[in-house]
Amino acid sequence: MGTRIEHFECAIVGGGLAGLCLAIQLADRDVSVVVFEKGNYPFHKVCGEYISMESWPFLESLGLPLAELSLPKIDRLGITSDRGFILNHSLGMGGFGISRYSLDHYLFEIASRKGAHVIQECRVMDVQGNPADGFQVRTSAGDFTSKVVCGSYGKYTPQFVHLHENNISNTDNQNYIGIKYHIQTDFPANRIELHNFSDGYCGVSKVDRDWYCLCYLTTARNLIENGKDVKQMEEAVLFQNPFLKNYFQNSKFINPQPLIISNVQFNKKQTDSNGIFLLGDAAGSITPLCGNGMSMGIRASKLLAEQLLFLFSGKQTYGQASQNYRREWDAAFGTRIRAGYHLQKLFGKSRTTDFALRTLDKFPWLTSKLVALTHGDVF
Ligand SMILES: Cc1cc2nc3c(=O)[nH]c(=O)nc-3n(C[C@H](O)[C@H](O)[C@H](O)COP(=O)(O)OP(=O)(O)OC[C@H]3O[C@@H](n4cnc5c(N)ncnc54)[C@H](O)[C@@H]3O)c2cc1C
Repeated sequence: MGTRIEHFECAIVGGGLAGLCLAIQLADRDVSVVVFEKGNYPFHKVCGEYISMESWPFLESLGLPLAELSLPKIDRLGITSDRGFILNHSLGMGGFGISRYSLDHYLFEIASRKGAHVIQECRVMDVQGNPADGFQVRTSAGDFTSKVVCGSYGKYTPQFVHLHENNISNTDNQNYIGIKYHIQTDFPANRIELHNFSDGYCGVSKVDRDWYCLCYLTTARNLIENGKDVKQMEEAVLFQNPFLKNYFQNSKFINPQPLIISNVQFNKKQTDSNGIFLLGDAAGSITPLCGNGMSMGIRASKLLAEQLLFLFSGKQTYGQASQNYRREWDAAFGTRIRAGYHLQKLFGKSRTTDFALRTLDKFPWLTSKLVALTHGDVF
């Protein structure tokens, strides 16, 4: 007896927020959809957990009752230099805090309730096929076929996805690591702070429960120079910033061991590869300081869902869906990515950062403009 192969109209590789938001929208419109997620909800992720307010109404429209969750609304920003300067500013539209542990789990529950088939602890190993004949998806839970495949696998491109040569190398040739803790500390709930140190910066802001997220990004070189010892690097490098030293020394760490990711690169990739639609970090990621990657992933799911619904209802061809999605993606994120690339150069460098912050402090209108560039319009 052969193994039964299940067929779906849409297969989604990766159940982070981009993949789950897409699944919810498709399931809502009766498209048969399967999500493959190698993790098991709820689980933690390295992320600063600040979501720009632009996503709030859309997340609510998917069925996430944000207003009932008593989440911290964040409208104040503080940026410090390791020389002890602090720039205080309002965030304009601002954002809110929620842990990925809670957010992805809520979205998983909504997707399942709406009829999406979410398979956990299931790793996609290969995707073969094409838009004309359909796709075969080989996973650790068996084989599946589908008419359309979407890749929302996050920042690490799997071997079965082939990116164009010029999209493989990152824009600044840096290899980053991301490190995250949840802490309890004395900190206003409506504030986010970004603390610069040599070759990196660290965000602190409140999320759900009584947790605060303390998450930083730095170069792999920084860790290597400190004997690959995270604690040693924190004490030798991050503690140079007096604000950061204070948070490390006067907070309760929920889990003493941080969550760590390595080999992180930031670059724009592409919106499809060999007929697979890409969204979220899979289509391109931006340094956390500059662009609200979560809102970009959530918004990309909306852009893609609209095109896929036209495709499934026979109103457009695969080629048209792909072209329209690429055009809309570029229109939505092109400026943000370019601005992020330039903004990034101002941070994580002792003298430059200190000078930039002192200058911005004298020109609040310019600070407001830069902050606005990192947030999109409400959708
Ligand atoms: C240090 C750091 C801090 C950040 N801070 C912020 C912030 O404060 N605000 C913000 O908006 N953005 C922030 N970001 C960016 C944000 O985390 C990402 O943009 C966002 O998580 C992208 O969502 P996604 O759904 O595309 O990918 P992910 O959330 O990474 O989800 C991808 C999913 O795919 C699964 N997967 C991968 N491969 C496979 C496979 N082969 N088979 C099955 N499943 C697979 C993974 O397990 C994962 O669950 C930060 C990023 C970093 C690195």
